[in-house]
Amino acid sequence: MVDIHLEAIEHTHQLVGTNYASTGDIPKDHDIFYRCDECGDFVPSVPKRNLGCRCGNVFVDKDYWRLHIGDMSKMSVLRKNSTPRRTQSGGQRI
Ligand SMILES: [Zn+2]
Repeated sequence: MVDIHLEAIEHTHQLVGTNYASTGDIPKDHDIFYRCDECGDFVPSVPKRNLGCRCGNVFVDKDYWRLHIGDMSKMSVLRKNSTPRRTQSGGQRI
């Protein structure tokens, strides 16, 4: 039951990493999402409630702040692009 618009996420998120060795290595933040490559669902890394993908490969246990991954090779970590990039020479905005 993940009611997120996948197309919007595809356009505004960039790949952080995949094929992690353990769940302890996987980043977690308000702009981090997990994508299950098995079913294609997106799961927020810090959801408001326990949330998992539809096939059960990726599950975030909000109560214990634990991440459960069935097959590590079938999940990707994505980061939301919160601000438009400004790569003009010189200035670096914070
Ligand atoms: Zn899945």
